[in-house]
Amino acid sequence: MTPMTLLSRRRFLAVSAASAAAAGTPAIAAREPGDLDVVIIGAGAAGIAAARRLASAQAKFAVIEASDRLGGRCFTETSTFGVPFDRGAHWIHEPDLNPVVPLAMKSGFDIYPAPPPGRVRLGRRYARTGEMEDYLTATVRANRAIAAASRGRQDVSCAQALPKDLGGWQPTIEFVLGPFGCGKDLAEVSALDFSRSAERNNDMFCRDGLGALVAKLAEGLPVQLSRPASHIDWSERNRIEIRTAKGYLYSRTVIVTASTGVLMSDKLKFDPELPRRYLDAIEKLRLGSYDHIALELPGNPLGLQRDELIFEKADSARTAAILANISGTALCTVEVGGKFGAELAAAGEPAMVSFALDWLTGLYGADVRKAVKRTSATRWNREPWTLGAFSAAAPGGQWARAALAEPVRDRIFFAGEATHETLWGTVGGAWASGERAADAVMRRLGLVAAPPEPKAPAASRSSRRR
Ligand SMILES: Cc1cc2nc3c(=O)[nH]c(=O)nc-3n(C[C@H](O)[C@H](O)[C@H](O)COP(=O)(O)OP(=O)(O)OC[C@H]3O[C@@H](n4cnc5c(N)ncnc54)[C@H](O)[C@@H]3O)c2cc1C
Repeated sequence: MTPMTLLSRRRFLAVSAASAAAAGTPAIAAREPGDLDVVIIGAGAAGIAAARRLASAQAKFAVIEASDRLGGRCFTETSTFGVPFDRGAHWIHEPDLNPVVPLAMKSGFDIYPAPPPGRVRLGRRYARTGEMEDYLTATVRANRAIAAASRGRQDVSCAQALPKDLGGWQPTIEFVLGPFGCGKDLAEVSALDFSRSAERNNDMFCRDGLGALVAKLAEGLPVQLSRPASHIDWSERNRIEIRTAKGYLYSRTVIVTASTGVLMSDKLKFDPELPRRYLDAIEKLRLGSYDHIALELPGNPLGLQRDELIFEKADSARTAAILANISGTALCTVEVGGKFGAELAAAGEPAMVSFALDWLTGLYGADVRKAVKRTSATRWNREPWTLGAFSAAAPGGQWARAALAEPVRDRIFFAGEATHETLWGTVGGAWASGERAADAVMRRLGLVAAPPEPKAPAASRSSRRR
């Protein structure tokens, strides 16, 4: 759009808003006084982290959030079960690299180490020592094969890279590394992206919920809830116009933290359209599917430890994992993901609960059914301001993370889990990306001196993520 047409459109909208207000309907184009330095779109982990950084530099900024709550994909609620239920992120991965951990400690949250990786169920019994050894050996071989493939000339999918002789463990390994670890089947995951992601074997949990912690870290920030942005007009050289459901905002820069699911939808439009490279990057980082089917199981009918994670030796993709007795409560979550998880979620919450109960009955017997009290299931693919879970890159798509993190003409700065090269798909990665974007904006606006280059975290990959 040329500046001329933009001016005409602005004038037209101002007139329409005035007549709408005169007619007693809410004005949609009320202009805020004065331009801001930055508008942050989204109050998930990335947006909150960026806002905290900007607040400390006393920048003039606003945070607008489409939904009526904080945290985005990191959200704890207590209303369903009377105890904290993390509907999105729950594991605090790699505490040594995770920027949220020191903040949690400072805020007095009770965070504690997760038990070591779980046992495997074979029908009605657990895998014996020799069987566990076979499984772990096969997992190491699978990881090594993917790492080797990632060093090849051309990126391939993780499925193409897998050894062909994993035998009876193949479906289990495919589930653990794919739907459970990445939210996608391995055929849809780049071997390079998988191998570059930081190790996620060492985890912690937050007793009050990871979402509660992230929301606490937003305290005092100027977040405007229920204010979705629908258009970002960056056709003028020194000023960005952001159309929202509650009027326009004007700023010099914008930090966009909306998920790649939202960026691929028509909910947030750019005018002029983003350069082709960004559109391609967003497409390569499309979100996978991952959900929790939560069951209240009082009296520990499965006989599991606190926070114990169990897989099954699967014979197909119709499988799951269970995280039991969360933080010592009766809350257990059955974890589903990838293509099967997406189909199940599309079938609705009753179908999800029914699968979870059938699956648990197959592993632990029919008494489980009788023990279940309340249930609930997430359906992140349907969450209107997320539209998916997290962003494992498609084969050939690892380049997209760095590309999306590059500012557009030094004015539009993308942040969020998809822009983190090694901690994508995590709260820590989203947080770090928000801080990085805020630092870049402040440098651009001359608000702070450039900090030293951050040290890149180690790039190795484990068998388990969530
Ligand atoms: C089921 C599930 C389990 C997970 N488990 C873990 C885990 O155990 N550990 C872990 O570290 N990570 C986990 N993750 C991933 C983690 O939740 C995300 O990586 C992280 O929370 C993403 O933060 P973000 O700020 O990038 O994006 P989001 O959390 O999506 O935040 C973006 C915000 O922008 C808002 N928004 C979108 N569009 C607009 C608009 N047009 N205008 C205004 N606001 C807008 C959204 O409402 C949202 O609040 C999980 C995710 C899911 C879905």
